[in-house]
Amino acid sequence: MPLESLYDLSFKTLQSRLLSDGVRPIHAVQLWKLLYYELEPDPNTSDMLSPPLRRWLKAALEESLTLSQPSVCDRLDSSDGLTKKLLLRLHDGQEIETVVMGYPGRFTACISSQAGCAMGCVFCATGQMGFVRHLSHGEIVTQVMEAQRLLRAEGNKLRNLVLMGMGEPLHNYDVVMEALASVCHLPGIGIAPSRISVSTVGLVPGIIRFTEERLPYSLAISLHAATDAERSALLPVNQRWPLSELMEACRYYSRKLQRKVFFGWTLIAGQNDSADHALVLLELLQGLDAHVNLIRLNRTAGFSGRTSEEPSTTAFQKAIQEAGVPCTVRQYRGIDVAAGCGQLRADRQKFKSPEIECPPNKASAVS
Ligand code: SF4
Repeated sequence: MPLESLYDLSFKTLQSRLLSDGVRPIHAVQLWKLLYYELEPDPNTSDMLSPPLRRWLKAALEESLTLSQPSVCDRLDSSDGLTKKLLLRLHDGQEIETVVMGYPGRFTACISSQAGCAMGCVFCATGQMGFVRHLSHGEIVTQVMEAQRLLRAEGNKLRNLVLMGMGEPLHNYDVVMEALASVCHLPGIGIAPSRISVSTVGLVPGIIRFTEERLPYSLAISLHAATDAERSALLPVNQRWPLSELMEACRYYSRKLQRKVFFGWTLIAGQNDSADHALVLLELLQGLDAHVNLIRLNRTAGFSGRTSEEPSTTAFQKAIQEAGVPCTVRQYRGIDVAAGCGQLRADRQKFKSPEIECPPNKASAVS
């Protein structure tokens, strides 16, 4: 039987394992702190563990558990030093991306929830590579640990977390939510739930479940178009859950939890960045507590769309704001580190291929 990673255990599971092995579950706190607060890579050699816990861990590592974690196989830093992109290799050779972004007074990690993605959004490098598999609890949590390690080495601290990396988080719902609970659990990594944002392309049953479970994280919807024809052309998921169903789910979430919904809108020149597009968007958002985040398009090899020009972006933002809806343009982050979701992995795949030359350093931004 393959061994399970210690990092795949939630706090509750860890407690029940201890209990069933005759160790008082209170000891779980010590081990949790060592793993997720101290970020100790080799806990079985630490003298911070009580003797019963050390004995339990030694036996568990001989019989059923491993300390296997994804390894950092590549790292790219932007020239301004504000964005760091990590490529992590999983136990089966799959590679996923984690991005750490610095903003004035705060650091945010953008993590992945799947290897590849089944949603097929046409402008996205991850969507273009297809779905490989869901990530495990440990594979999600250790991305946050790596981000925290990196920041701690610089004397900084991770404050915010966004699930906007590779994959659709609501497609891997149970594992993602359990991993987020672990990321918040104290004494551990200890990120405040209100500083975590889950971004979805519009899986309506997942949004309804997220609402009914009253999860404490923010919800962000990748919208990008406000008519079904335009949205289905960009996001195939819209054919399954059209805008009427998606917006009804968003209104349900906002009404029931009294929370704002964040809408992501990637501006593509000539496709969704005109004044008319802004008006259709405003109509769609009418009566909803909404915030619109405008995103500059990251060019990818498989999509011919162009990044919106500065004047169109400014005019679009102004139209939304003048209607009373908060609207921000997401700051460029990682312009020179292939920081759009899936781009570093895609570039490395090309680099590894003998038929294709290493691509030049291309312009990109975090999406
Ligand atoms: S944008 Fe997100 S949901 Fe769409 S294909 Fe890319 S990773 Fe998947």
